[in-house]
Amino acid sequence: RPVVTFDNVDFGYEEDRQILHKLSFEAPAGATVALVGPSGAGKSTIGRLLFRFYDPSAGRILIDGQDIREVTQASLRAHIGIVPQDSVLFNDTLGYNIAYGRDDATAEQIERAARDAAVLPLVELLPQGFDTEVGERGLKLSGGEKQRVAIARTLLKDPPILLLDEATSALDSRTEQDILATLKRVSADRTTIAIAHRLSTIADADIINVMDAGRIVESGSHFDLLRRD
Ligand code: ADP
Ligand code: ADP
Repeated sequence: RPVVTFDNVDFGYEEDRQILHKLSFEAPAGATVALVGPSGAGKSTIGRLLFRFYDPSAGRILIDGQDIREVTQASLRAHIGIVPQDSVLFNDTLGYNIAYGRDDATAEQIERAARDAAVLPLVELLPQGFDTEVGERGLKLSGGEKQRVAIARTLLKDPPILLLDEATSALDSRTEQDILATLKRVSADRTTIAIAHRLSTIADADIINVMDAGRIVESGSHFDLLRRD
């Protein structure tokens, strides 16, 4: 049984303009499923529906076979970890930034998340480790370093489902390769939905869904898609 199912989902932000048209796709357990397509295709909308910022006008969205309208918001958020395009860093310690919103996290859990996201090399450079202030007033982190902190923040809650929402789009290409390698490692045993506008960033996803104007127009592995061209 798939972990995430979009089943004939119709959606529009406004009544007279439909954005998603009978959209269906599945994310099998442990797989990485990509949604790729031009700006405006409806990729981010899928993320917003998954978190129930909006509900479909027709069709269903299931997690582990259960309609997400029957799941509490707390459970949804515990299940799905999002790595956004631009992460917000607070003017506070690195530890606070990783553990943001998780007052119950232990130092060991924070360190493990930092290690998994490869933040630790960064920590070792910092004289006071996790107690070092980062953000506008403190240490300036590069875009890639900020993304590592964001990944650590997401991993701290150990979500079974990862939503990568243009997670490397804001980075230069070399930093992007570094962060992609980390994302590939941390998503290996999680069900992952990767949203991207460029095929190069999701080329080794198990299933690539190519979107255009609110529809999935092609689906398969990178190899399948190349063969069809
Ligand atoms: P993508 O992520 O593929 O770039 P989006 O899901 O952001 O696409 O947007 C799909 C369509 O929905 C676009 O035509 C966009 O203009 C429209 N849209 C996105 N957000 C809103 C909103 N809050 N209100 C109205 N229309 C929106
Ligand atoms: P929690 O605060 O429960 O630990 P996260 O820190 O993983 O959860 O944040 C999940 C939240 O991220 C969602 O509930 C939503 O408020 C927010 N979010 C930011 N960008 C998006 C997006 N593109 N799609 C869906 N949710 C988003």
